[in-house]
Amino acid sequence: MTFSLHGLAVSSGIAIGRAHLVSHATLEVAHYQVREKEVAGEIERFDLAVDVVRAELETLHGEASLPGTPSEVAAFVGIHAMILEDPLLTEVPKDLIRGRRCNAEWALVQQMEQLVSQFEDIEDGYLRERKHDVVQVAERVLKALMGKGRKIGRRGKDEDLIIVAHDLSPADTIQFKKLKIGGFVTDLGGATSHTAIVARSLAIPAVVGLHHARPLVREDDLLIVDGTRGVLIVQPDERVLEEYRLRKRELELERTKLKRLKTARSATLDGEEVALYANIELPQDTEQVKDVAADGIGLFRTEFLFMNRDDLPDEDEQFDAYKAVAKAMAGCPVTIRTLDIGADKTIKAMSGGERQTPNPALGLRAIRYCLAEPQMFLTQLRAILRASHYGKVRILIPMLAHAIEIEQTLAMIEQAKAQLRDSRHKFDESIKVGGMIEIPAAALALGPFVKRLQFLSLGTNDLIQYTLAIDRTDEAVAHLYDPLHPAVLRLVAQTIAAGSRMDVPVAVCGEMAGDPAMTRLLIGMGLRQFSMHPSQILEVKQQVVMADADQLTQKVSRLLRFDDPEKLREQVGRLNENRP
Ligand code: PEP
Ligand code: MG
Repeated sequence: MTFSLHGLAVSSGIAIGRAHLVSHATLEVAHYQVREKEVAGEIERFDLAVDVVRAELETLHGEASLPGTPSEVAAFVGIHAMILEDPLLTEVPKDLIRGRRCNAEWALVQQMEQLVSQFEDIEDGYLRERKHDVVQVAERVLKALMGKGRKIGRRGKDEDLIIVAHDLSPADTIQFKKLKIGGFVTDLGGATSHTAIVARSLAIPAVVGLHHARPLVREDDLLIVDGTRGVLIVQPDERVLEEYRLRKRELELERTKLKRLKTARSATLDGEEVALYANIELPQDTEQVKDVAADGIGLFRTEFLFMNRDDLPDEDEQFDAYKAVAKAMAGCPVTIRTLDIGADKTIKAMSGGERQTPNPALGLRAIRYCLAEPQMFLTQLRAILRASHYGKVRILIPMLAHAIEIEQTLAMIEQAKAQLRDSRHKFDESIKVGGMIEIPAAALALGPFVKRLQFLSLGTNDLIQYTLAIDRTDEAVAHLYDPLHPAVLRLVAQTIAAGSRMDVPVAVCGEMAGDPAMTRLLIGMGLRQFSMHPSQILEVKQQVVMADADQLTQKVSRLLRFDDPEKLREQVGRLNENRP
């Protein structure tokens, strides 16, 4: 039966392919009795499924040892292989099959739930979190039992694989970089959640906040993900399918045409230069950055190096990653943001594990966490400083609000420098240090920022979240998340203006910078440095080369006087009339 669901469009484009459900498998498992004489067969079925998973994990382990694969992948597969050999998971279910004469799937789920509840009682946060590994291994065995053992990334050449999940964490999504995923849809999530941001960086169509996709879609259903309109179409008929195939081809054609802009100078019609920098999550993203000839890296979200692993990357490992980016960018600016974990980005090695706090977005996040963990912070600072010897590296500090945080951070950078001098490591003594403006308090009281820091970067994703008190990951309030709210626009405009008065360069590195519908508005506010995902750079450049900065400045200064959100929106619409 054909039906469609509407959610939030978070990453544009069209994917057509088969559904792969990612879920808590327990919801799908049937429970039935087997006859006495069938018990041995049921046990054999269970053993066979375990053998299949053992072989799968061995293959994965082999693939994970290939050069270029992050070391944590092998470690992660190793843990799963160990769990699979634990009799609690592979023997006890057989006792249940014998004792209760139930089917193998049911027995496995019963035992898995038992184990998970035992994990929940463990006080140590790190150990408690291992329950997820147990669930993942059990789900693998379940899939093998149910005949669904399928390897992601091994589909036909023309078929996309579409992930359907209740929710995905940024850590899950970053793994898609290694796999060939055509698109994904989730029931939860907001448009500027980090999960959505990673989807955009992968340039894969995605829709979030669909509410009921996970329970309604079945494995292998044919799906269309329209990431531009925020629609999921399930089991489309031939007519709809043909229409979407056509649109997909048109989009591909447009992308090819945009490539012609790669070597064009990024300047407005009246000659104002506009720097277009890239946001990256992992060192290998620099390939994509070079493909679109970005002017440098405006935001390296280093926290992704810390995800999907149990330990923290040490100084040398971090240094290698930062140095690789610095060298790849060959003298272009590389802005490395210090660890921004907390809120929706958690890492397993956080003290207290992936802990639940009452208001994580308002809690010990980003610089607050780093200042509370000075050794970890110093390790990262030393690694960044060492990399600065190999390129034009700059340090960017997230989530600053207080002058004292700026002072403490600068003192720690000095301490890291002194340590490196002692150990005779080379680094750029005059490395530039900048701050993210992403808390309204910072935008409203810029004094200490422009005095003590050498550049600023507006993190509009968080600035909007904190100005409007909208959790950026919560689809229930997503309709209130509004970059064009007059309060948001004023904070952005004031920051850009203050930077230009005080001669402190200001960039925007939040999602607003990559939205072509915002380019004219931001140029009119005086912005000359944009940072976005490489996949968005050419589209934004297309806007830049068609813009007249002088005219936009006048129009935008008038527009910012409007208090009425509707009028403001209408004026922004006018700015964008006739844009390509
Ligand atoms: C932002 O908040 O706009 C930003 C760029 O940082 P992040 O999205 O990583 O929080
Ligand atoms: Mg932010």
